[in-house]
Amino acid sequence: MGKIRARRIKLDTPEKILKKDLDLYQEKSLQLGATDARIIPARQVVVDPRVRLKCLVPRCHLYGETPNCPPYTPEPHQMRRILEKYSYAIMVKNDVLPAEDFVDDEKWYKAHMAHQGKTHRIVSGVEALAFNDGYYFAAGFAAGGCKTALCGGRICQFLDSGRCRFPLKARPSMEAVGIDVYRLVSLVGWGIYPVAHKDVDPESIPCAISVGIVFVA
Ligand code: SF4
Repeated sequence: MGKIRARRIKLDTPEKILKKDLDLYQEKSLQLGATDARIIPARQVVVDPRVRLKCLVPRCHLYGETPNCPPYTPEPHQMRRILEKYSYAIMVKNDVLPAEDFVDDEKWYKAHMAHQGKTHRIVSGVEALAFNDGYYFAAGFAAGGCKTALCGGRICQFLDSGRCRFPLKARPSMEAVGIDVYRLVSLVGWGIYPVAHKDVDPESIPCAISVGIVFVA
């Protein structure tokens, strides 16, 4: 992305300008490589404490391994209150092709860096655009853990020494803050399947996806 022009902060952005900006962020998401992007009302996003439970049952290998994963991320009850303040969000989707990339043990780390890393880059890029347009509460959430998506499984440098390798790209995932991603994606109309990295027959998954969201205003 080239240099972003900063815009003067306005306390009341007219709805017409906000809609125009949302269209621009949708377009930008596609330019940055998303397969699809949608503008959604923030009220469609449901936060469910059972999503966080799934970080523990079965316990995720990334739990406590990065500052962008539980237990360091906002709790669902905090997140629910935070999201009440937003009106609109941009959802982005990356198709993961072939689906084997997410179910094959051999390819797992490399594939996560390619696909989930791309979601981190799109989400952080769109968030930066919105922030510089004056939406100073813009906040992006990606997919998977930054330890696999950006650092390829290496030990987290932030937890080790306080210096993240990718401070402007790393974001918590949607699921790390309790967002019911499966529900939201189904609501938007995109196909989504439960993809585990073992045991799943790739033939049963027409297309795996990686999804992120940017709450704009
Ligand atoms: S160093 Fe890597 S694993 Fe740690 S917070 Fe930064 S991106 Fe995430």
